[in-house]
Amino acid sequence: MHLMETYKRLPVSFSRGEGVYLYDDKGKRYLDFIAGIAVNALGYADKELTEALCNQARKLFHVSNLFENPWQEELAGELTKAFWTCGKVFFCNSGAEANEGAIKLARKYFYEKGERRYRIVTFYNSFHGRTFGAMSATAQEKIQKGFEPLLDGFDYAQLNNIDSVMKALRKETAGIMLEVIQGEGGIREATLEFLQKVQEICKREGLLLIVDEVQTGIGRTGKFYAYEHYGIKPDIITLAKGLGGGFPIGAVLARDEVAEAFKPGSHGSTFGGNPLACVCASVVVRRVKSLLPHIERVGAYFRRRLEELRAGEVRGRGLMLGLDIKRDCSQLVLRALERGLLINCTSQSVLRFVPPLIVEEKHVDEGIDILKEILS
Ligand SMILES: *Cc1c(COP(=O)(O)O)cnc(C)c1O
Repeated sequence: MHLMETYKRLPVSFSRGEGVYLYDDKGKRYLDFIAGIAVNALGYADKELTEALCNQARKLFHVSNLFENPWQEELAGELTKAFWTCGKVFFCNSGAEANEGAIKLARKYFYEKGERRYRIVTFYNSFHGRTFGAMSATAQEKIQKGFEPLLDGFDYAQLNNIDSVMKALRKETAGIMLEVIQGEGGIREATLEFLQKVQEICKREGLLLIVDEVQTGIGRTGKFYAYEHYGIKPDIITLAKGLGGGFPIGAVLARDEVAEAFKPGSHGSTFGGNPLACVCASVVVRRVKSLLPHIERVGAYFRRRLEELRAGEVRGRGLMLGLDIKRDCSQLVLRALERGLLINCTSQSVLRFVPPLIVEEKHVDEGIDILKEILS
């Protein structure tokens, strides 16, 4: 009534959660294979995460970035330790903001080198967020329509088509930005061969490789960062979604030489990396590092069980899976909801499964049984 109608909301209202389950205001239980869209990495009401948040809340919520912030230092240390080389981190509050930071950093890096390179190659069907830079990077008509003129400086190419990348390059190109698995775009994976060629092009042309790990990062695919599956070495990665386990936080991580282009005053955020957010993310990051074998194992099991359904193409890695049923899947979401299963339909025909990373085989079985019912 009082809200702008930016979302098509399902007719249910949750009042609490526990583990991989949510409960609505009538006490009905739902198995959650959405997890706040790949956000609630440790599920709901995790004891350690809740305690860390409450303890910090009793001491200090917010401190300005005018002052030292040991919570950011600790978290940044954990994030960079998992990166392929020495790097530095900037904290913000969301995925779109992280990508804005990455775009600005790429431009500033070449500015500092005295080169007029500012354009970024991005991909059709990608999703980088709703702010002007991130939206302009997102080559999808449905996201951009009605908001023109867009920000200048993006050239679009086709994922897994190296010729289209070559055609998109100009002398002002600063970098190539991509998701190794397009999430909102329907769980579409870049191939190993394609990513290695993109890496080669970046090396040869002196371009920055920017990987948007907002959805794929922090263990979602079974590696801490999804780029690790492909043996590539991105110059910049962006994080958000799962990072705070439900507390809003985003991050830009860049290798040292690139990160140094940001100087005092170059970029900033009032709330970015506040103590509450950092304390939550530190718990998530530590726990996810020990969950990686579990994610790989349960993810493989989930994938196998989806394939057994023979209901369409199964795509994705770890606990970021899609079932492309090649027909509209929005009705299935409603039928699953009635039966106490939360799933998401993206890209019209793709059922997306991004459960909490603590999900177990028995939960997968429970979900698959419901899926079988509603698919038949
Ligand atoms: C969700 C998402 C974003 C945007 O994140 P917000 O926090 O909604 O701004 C950006 N990139 C990818 C890959 C995403 O999945």
